[in-house]
Amino acid sequence: MIIENFNDYKLSSELLKAISMLNFKSPTKVQKQVIPAVLDGNDVVVKSQTGSGKTASFAIPICELVDWDENKPQALILTPTRELAIQVKEDVFNVGRFKRIKASAIYGKAPFSRQEKELKQKTHIVVGTPGRVIDHMERGTFDTSKIKYLIVDEADEMLNMGFVEQIETIIKELPKDRVTMLLSATMPKDIKTLCNKYMKAPISIEIEDENSATDRIVQERYTVDRKDKMELLRDVTILENPDSCMIFCNTKQKVEDVCYELSNLKYNCDKIHGGMEQRDRLSVMNGFREGKFRYLIATDVAARGIDIDNISLVINYDIPQDRESYVHRIGRTGRIKNEGRAITFVAKNENKFLDDIHEYIGKEILLKEKPDKETVNNAKEEFITKMNSKPKVKKTKGEKLNKEIMKLHINAGKKTKMRAVDIVGTLCNIKGMTAADIGIINILDVSTFVEILNNKGELVFQALQNTTIKGRLRNVSKV
Ligand code: AMP
Repeated sequence: MIIENFNDYKLSSELLKAISMLNFKSPTKVQKQVIPAVLDGNDVVVKSQTGSGKTASFAIPICELVDWDENKPQALILTPTRELAIQVKEDVFNVGRFKRIKASAIYGKAPFSRQEKELKQKTHIVVGTPGRVIDHMERGTFDTSKIKYLIVDEADEMLNMGFVEQIETIIKELPKDRVTMLLSATMPKDIKTLCNKYMKAPISIEIEDENSATDRIVQERYTVDRKDKMELLRDVTILENPDSCMIFCNTKQKVEDVCYELSNLKYNCDKIHGGMEQRDRLSVMNGFREGKFRYLIATDVAARGIDIDNISLVINYDIPQDRESYVHRIGRTGRIKNEGRAITFVAKNENKFLDDIHEYIGKEILLKEKPDKETVNNAKEEFITKMNSKPKVKKTKGEKLNKEIMKLHINAGKKTKMRAVDIVGTLCNIKGMTAADIGIINILDVSTFVEILNNKGELVFQALQNTTIKGRLRNVSKV
């Protein structure tokens, strides 16, 4: 039976509530096949593009299946990049919010000790990049003895990045009795080998691409001399006048150069590439996600899996030299059912890359004449008006969920022997509160963060102004 409505799956009310608040009206194609297969305990191999709702296709059954009472991690999700690890963790968090699922992201170039502390606390689901996951396993800071679910996301990209040995190292350490899921946009031979070696009679799920991103995106190209690219970029952006645009370059240096030029021209822009500090990369991605600036200039670090709503235009300032990268880059526009636009600049000696892309996407990208000066001039006024106006702030996905939830900070933590039961005990004694109204509790050295669900935050905040926790009145503030 094909289910058209999330309510028809045997999902707990906590999950259904989160799904409805995320505004997922009905399951996407991939979800229709993957959710029931995983709920039934099958291994699955999924061939599907990003943007098809594939993250929720594993997040939903995994959040449903994990046992809340177990303190050790039960699911491990591997992703190729740090950005994706964080994004997937957020998605899992949003889906599992009302079940109070605790998810942690562990990835390189971020302090080890903070992740170690996080993993010491109750954690149901770990999302991580292979290298850092292995580090934690080797140092004994990630206990994998209770892992029942392993998800390898963007498996083809993992292979491209040379992670296959690391994935095997991780798999060998995990309990054999587990459900394994592998998701990939393409299915090269190495992935099939990996599946045969480590999966049990996996169900193969292939979502044909008839409605895929590439069909929903209007794709155009310009032939241009390298030295004229900047001028063309200016003309094209004036004509297109996008609300939100990503500009991809092939190297860090080029990203720097283009960002510098556009900033000089007073474009509302920022940049992201692998040479930047992780903290800066995250803050740029968040700023763009929230609509704080219109133009993001990026290398391919931002092409994979990154999910930002309503990017109206993608420009390949440099044509990608790898055909799969083309599909990932343009897939940043035209997410789920939206239409998008993608424009590619092709320099004189780059036809071999173009041919390769044409063969891969099975159609020809429309060749356009460079815009003439008059057309550009006519469009300038409107462009400048938009340039001088603030971009529209975008709602983040979890915003609706956040409304019902208040996060409180309590000025006491591990150093004063604060434990989750002390918090739960106190909160449940407040009139009108039950354990179901308490969300995630995070106890640090001298602070504790606790989420209060179901619009009961204010009630708890007021009550804690004169209620003791572990024998003392604590300083409590809203976060
Ligand atoms: P993904 O393929 O996981 O990158 O998901 C693409 C986008 O689709 C994300 O913004 C999801 O929040 C959104 N999404 C996932 N499932 C659904 C659904 N059933 N209905 C509407 N949007 C969805």
